[in-house]
Amino acid sequence: MAWECAECNVRETDSTPIDSVCHHCGKPLCPDHVYRFADHAFAEFEGDPPEGRNAAHCVDCRTTYHQRVRGSARRR
Ligand SMILES: [Zn+2]
Ligand SMILES: [Zn+2]
Ligand SMILES: [Zn+2]
Repeated sequence: MAWECAECNVRETDSTPIDSVCHHCGKPLCPDHVYRFADHAFAEFEGDPPEGRNAAHCVDCRTTYHQRVRGSARRR
């Protein structure tokens, strides 16, 4: 089954790999619609950097879960 971007429904091709999946909702995302930034939810594992690992996000989850991602990530 070919992956399709959940945002723009583009089908995966060689030039547009749908190789990212939102780590919150599991939507497949094309390079135009994926937002990658460190997520503290990924810092729970031993050996991960404290700022978190880069995680793929769809625009919805970026807004929902990371509203302050552009500012300094102060959550405690
Ligand atoms: Zn897309
Ligand atoms: Zn999502
Ligand atoms: Zn996240």
